[in-house]
Amino acid sequence: MDRRTTIKLLSVSAASAAVFAGERLVARRPKHQPAPPAVALNQAGYLPSVQKIATVPADLAGKPFELRDANSGQSAFRGAVGPAMHDECSGDHIALADFSTLQKPGRYRLATTTSVSGPFPVGADAWREPLRMAMRGYYGQRCGCAVDLGGGYRHPPCHLKGAYHPTSGRSGDVPSHGGWHDAGDYGRYVVNSGISVGTLLWAWELFPQALRGLNLGIPESGGKLPDYLAEVRWNLEWMLSLQDADGGVWHKQTSESFCAFIMPQDDTMVSYVIGTGSPPYKSTCATADLAAAAAIAARCYGPYDPEFAQRCLAAARGAWSWAVAHPDVMFDNPRGIRTGSYADHDGRDEILWASGELWRTTGDSAYRDAFLAQAAALPVESYVWTPSWPEVAPLGYWTVVMSGRPGSEALRDRVLAKTAQDAEFLMSRARTSGYGQTLGPPDYIWGSNGVAANQSLLLMIADRFQPNPDAREAALANLHYILGRNCFGISWVTQVGYSAFQHPHHRPSAADGIAAPWPGLMSGGPNAGSFTGAILHEAPMRVWADDQAAYWMNEICINWNAPLVFLLAGANAWALAS
Ligand SMILES: [Zn+2]
Repeated sequence: MDRRTTIKLLSVSAASAAVFAGERLVARRPKHQPAPPAVALNQAGYLPSVQKIATVPADLAGKPFELRDANSGQSAFRGAVGPAMHDECSGDHIALADFSTLQKPGRYRLATTTSVSGPFPVGADAWREPLRMAMRGYYGQRCGCAVDLGGGYRHPPCHLKGAYHPTSGRSGDVPSHGGWHDAGDYGRYVVNSGISVGTLLWAWELFPQALRGLNLGIPESGGKLPDYLAEVRWNLEWMLSLQDADGGVWHKQTSESFCAFIMPQDDTMVSYVIGTGSPPYKSTCATADLAAAAAIAARCYGPYDPEFAQRCLAAARGAWSWAVAHPDVMFDNPRGIRTGSYADHDGRDEILWASGELWRTTGDSAYRDAFLAQAAALPVESYVWTPSWPEVAPLGYWTVVMSGRPGSEALRDRVLAKTAQDAEFLMSRARTSGYGQTLGPPDYIWGSNGVAANQSLLLMIADRFQPNPDAREAALANLHYILGRNCFGISWVTQVGYSAFQHPHHRPSAADGIAAPWPGLMSGGPNAGSFTGAILHEAPMRVWADDQAAYWMNEICINWNAPLVFLLAGANAWALAS
């Protein structure tokens, strides 16, 4: 099968797992070396005060290593590599080079007796630009307007032709309302937008000092909103446009099938508002997720744009009422629709989250009562864990605890205890992993880098509830892992670090005629689940290839960049506070 055929066959989105789950695809063997990288570390660098550990091959155990000034070549730190160890997730035999006590700001290379790393910084602002790039990645995903990131990464307005699909229960045209292209495809999906926007706005609430002054270089820069909120609003406006007059929210707006690997302006298929295909046409999960995200937005935008905040709150209230009245309307792709389904057949956690956010925002007893009733069915001890797009109960619990609203006291201790227990578990993994990450073998599923970032989010919430330096280090360990301390020695964020991945499953990156991919986008990462792991017979962390066709392990997605932004926002906030 030649590459062109392969790409056409695999031109589907991460959202479409269900579409392809039943088909047998032949995966090519990744082109990696079956050995640890010479030096694996965070290529974006480190804050002066944090743990700094590189992973090197086991045969360097006990041997000397040093940090050299990247400009002068002078030695700045000398140490000895630790003992050899086995890393379970990668199958690698490795050893650790700990240079945490090097705190002097500068630009360095790590040299072992056999090789020298690329240059990386140590400094209080080391993660400022990665944060800006990860957030600016959303600007690159904008639909319905001209985008220009500089460097040739640009496109004119796209997908201006919208219409109600017959499955929506409506007919007629739909003007473009913006939004973000979800992933490597050009669809827009409310469920995935919900957790993405919710996560980003939580970052705004928890780490404003790191985000207020962020200059994203977007069309709204210099306006009344901080850039960060302006960018998130671009997607919120689209989400709000998918709300029907009765409060319900249609599930997605996409073409009927995925387009080829072309630029967005060249995709002339109609972008349809797609419903369930039968009354009431809107879906519970999309509606409740909109309610949750808009309730958070009502808090965040109030100080800058009260009118917009009020519009968000009204939308959230209407959506919540619809979701509570229609708790079991589950979405699956109607006949003839082949884009991502984001099918989640349990809306209880979405209603819990929406109720929690509205209770926090308004204090109204109706939301409190609904939250507590739903909580009785979704016990804290089972449902507080790493969040993901189909599992948002932890967000509901955490927001209620953070609200401190009267009536939440009884749950508070249970949520704190379970969150601390989860954090302890993740910290123990970070301590025993050869690459420092908190992922265990079962976590290497589709979007495992997003799982890692969301595990960091959990650790940072735990630290917020009860300050814990070890939880912070474990959260940062996933940042180190994503940005280069992994078994490929590669940075999984485009254009961040001296050896970043090059071939995301991302249509603009493939079709723009520029060799390097669009900046600031995180790869989904190793995916040992489904057919790939079974075919490749690799250790879980090794089931990854820098291959544009490999949507199941190298796509990018708005719900993976969101916890990365959250993690980087927290890391920068800690830098500012130290
Ligand atoms: Zn578009």
